[in-house]
Formats: sequence, structure tokens, C-alpha cells
Amino acid sequence: MAPIKVTKICCIGAGYVGGPTCAVIALKCPHITVTIVDLNQARVDAWNSPDFALPIYEPGLVDVVKQARGRNLFFSTDVDKGIREADLIFVSVNTPTKKSGVGAGFAADLNYVESATRRIAAVATSSKIVVEKSTVPCRTAESMRTILEANSKAGTHFDILSNPEFLAEGTAIVDLFSPDRVLIGSLQTPEGKSASQSLSDVYNNWVPKERILSVGLWSSELSKLAANAMLAQRISSINALSAICEATGANIDEVAHAIGFDSRIGPKFLRASVGFGGSCFQKDILNLVYLSESLHLPQVAAYWRQVVEMNEYQKSRFSKTVVDTLFNTITGKHIAVLGFAFKADTGDTRESASISLIRDFLSERAYVTIYDPQVEEAQIWLDLSEACPTLTLEAIKKQVNIVHSAVEACKQKEAVVIATEWKEFREIDWQTVYDDMSKPAFVFDGRLLVDAEKLRSIGFKVTTIGRGERL
Ligand code: NAD
Repeated sequence: MAPIKVTKICCIGAGYVGGPTCAVIALKCPHITVTIVDLNQARVDAWNSPDFALPIYEPGLVDVVKQARGRNLFFSTDVDKGIREADLIFVSVNTPTKKSGVGAGFAADLNYVESATRRIAAVATSSKIVVEKSTVPCRTAESMRTILEANSKAGTHFDILSNPEFLAEGTAIVDLFSPDRVLIGSLQTPEGKSASQSLSDVYNNWVPKERILSVGLWSSELSKLAANAMLAQRISSINALSAICEATGANIDEVAHAIGFDSRIGPKFLRASVGFGGSCFQKDILNLVYLSESLHLPQVAAYWRQVVEMNEYQKSRFSKTVVDTLFNTITGKHIAVLGFAFKADTGDTRESASISLIRDFLSERAYVTIYDPQVEEAQIWLDLSEACPTLTLEAIKKQVNIVHSAVEACKQKEAVVIATEWKEFREIDWQTVYDDMSKPAFVFDGRLLVDAEKLRSIGFKVTTIGRGERL
């Protein structure tokens, strides 16, 4: 069965994944028309904005969109037209953790995936390759196939592929230009293999063949959950060791360096911190926990659950260190929090460790001043309202202030907490910051970002993570 040559792609979901991924496909494949559709009018308007004020911040993204938009890259809210005209459709919608109902707090909410799938079945008038781009539980493609087959019109046929996305926010464009691998899962039938080849041909416009891996559908779906679970597990492992370092006088940088030299372990992802955040790690591990429980594998579920529990422990351990160090009370004290995004080079705040820290500080009735170079004020108020359900927004605003520079944030504060590893925080004029702070002036570096010795020589009392050191 000859693979079809893809000429029109539709991507359902113009978010952190659908937007950059399909913008790069359009850039690299000028012969393919790529339309990214979304129900969210404001988001689509931002993608189409004349001054390229895109809805997400990602280094290099504006350049990609500038080159391709209007040529072969389009953004639209006309989901039906996008579906109808495409021969290949990416489903790149959100799959958050369920907030209520069966499996609440663990299971993935597949409502958006199902709605998008039903829409494809309802409006498609010709055969399509449907590509599951969202991160989903193992065997979701089977549900999608059942829905599509039960609702398809005569003469239409759907092939389902899984093509999970491995980009990391903050480096999405670099990751998409030069991915470690592209994973394509398909049914091992002649039709499945042919559809897989069609998608592989799209990527092969810029990704070398040896980096495009073809596997079975279920392996592909599980590989995405497994990759995120193992990355998060590494962070929780190094953070667990950081607690031992603090208690013993060992130094986590030296430990990470030493173990990273082992070629079986490798040096990456061994940086201790206040904990991981982002929309994916926790969600995907909890999804794996739920899957394991559903499969009657309680020990497997408990194993993965511990990775998330360790992360929660690391965050609360850091908050406690701040309170303990500030003479066991932060009530009425003024704390600057530098960074609100879950990591540097993104404006995304989902599951950000910064939110957990600020929630703890507010519950101790401290005053908090926040600065982040990318996160919008409205987003900060929204996140804090959600994180502190017992406080009204008015009450939160009495305790929290948002400012426009790091130096301004630190002025006259008792302590500075570094919550996100923005490069600019390393380059602050710390002497000026020190001169303007209440004394003693404390710095809590939750990202091992600043030169602690240099700050100590200025006069700061510095607490970092995983270094069995004195203030
Ligand atoms: P997102 O929330 O930024 O974007 C999803 C978009 O889909 C939203 O704009 C929403 O309006 C739209 N949408 C939902 N239902 C729709 C429908 N029926 N029709 C049209 N549009 C619809 O989410 P995201 O961060 O891009 O993540 C998407 C998927 O990719 C998730 O499954 C996520 O787990 C996975 N993923 C995310 C990342 C990441 O770094 N963010 C990385 C890899 C994989």
C-alpha cells in the first residue's frame, strides 16, 4: 500500500505544543499547507497579530512564524474547514489531570481529545490520517479509532497514529529543529505502516531518517509517559540526595558531578532545585499511577507516586527552610520572590514551584513582592487565586505586590527567594540590592543560580539547596 503524500495539514489546538510544532513543520515544508485551529478566539487572534505578539513566549518562535505565516502557515478558529481540507490532522489539545469525578487528581481528562475526535468524524468528507499529538494514556488511540469508525461517512477511512511530542518549553524551537528522536506509533497493519510512512516523510524534510522511530501504537503512547516519568524521577532522585547533603555536609554539585561522570548515568538533569513544575511531569506521572492502579499493579503505582511526593516534599522543605532561617517567623515580613514561571525562558506558570512557595508564605502572613520577566500580571492573580482558595483576591492583593524589575522587587525586603532560573537574576547588581535591603539580608537560592560565595562576601546570608554549608 503506497503512502499518501501529505499536502495539507490541520492541527487542532494552538497551544504550547500545536503552535510551535506545526509552525516548524510549515517552515521546513513549504510545499505543505499547515492550518492550526483552535476554539479560543483570543489565542488565534494573538497568533495572527500583526506585531507578532504571540500567545506564548518561546525563544526563536517569532522568527519561525514571521517566515511562514501567510505563506503556508495559517491560524484560524474555523475548526471544521481545517479538518475538511486536511489529509493529515494533528490532535494537540490539552489533557489536564481530572479535577473531579472518577480518578480525580490522577486520571487524564480526555474530554478535549474526545470532542476533537468526534468533530473530525462529524465533518470529514474524505479519508484522513489522524495523529494523536497530545500526551494520553496507553490505548487512547483505540478509543479514538472506535469513535471515528462508528461515526464516519461512507467512503471515508481514518488511520490513527501516535506521535507524542518531546519538546521542552523554553527550548521548543531548538528541540523541534533538531529532535533527539521523532516517535511514530502505528498499527502494524499495511494501512497503519503506510500512514506511518506518510508522516515520517513529512518529518524527513529536515529530520534524518535514523532519528525517526517507528513503533507500535501502544508503545508510542506509553513511551511519552515513560520519558516524562523518568526525567522527573531523576530530578526527584537528585533532590532526595540534596536533603542528605544538607544534613551531612556533602555538596550536591560535587555529588552530581561525580555520579554524572558514570557514562551509564550521564550528567544531564542532575541539578538540584526547589522542585520541578510545568504542565507535564506531574500530570504524566499521575497518569501513569492511575494506569498502573487500573491494571491492578499497586506496587508499580506506588513506585511512580513517590516521584511526585518527593517533589512536594522538596517544595515544602524549602518553604520551611525560609521560615526557620528568618528566625522561625515570617509573619509581617517582606519577601521578594524572583521568578513566577515554572522554568526560565517561558511564560508558562502551570504547576510552577514559585506558586507553592508563595502560597506557603501567604499562609504565614508574610508580604510578597513578585517579579518575573515574562509572566503577565493577570496570570499571576489567577494562579494565586486558584492556589489560595481560602483567600479572596482582595485579601491576596493586600499581601502581594507585582513589580517590573528584580532590583525593585528586592528593595527594603528582608529576604529574596529565587524561584525561577532566569539568567537575568544571575546578572543582577547584587551590591545595589544589598544596600537597599533590610539587614540582615537573606537570599534563598532555589535554583542554585547565583554565586553564593560572592553574595556572602557582599554581606548576604545565603541559603542554597543541597550544600551542607553554613550561612
Ligand atoms: P495548551 O492548553 O497550551 O493548548 C491546547 C489548546 O487546545 C488550547 O488552546 C485549547 O483551546 C485547544 N482546544 C481544546 N479542545 C479543542 C477542540 N475541541 N478544538 C479546537 N481546539 C481545542 O496545551 P499544550 O501545552 O499545547 O499541550 C497539548 C498536549 O501536548 C497535552 O496533551 C500535553 O500533555 C502535551 N505536551 C505538552 C508539552 C508542553 O511542554 N506543554 C510537551 C509535550 C507534550
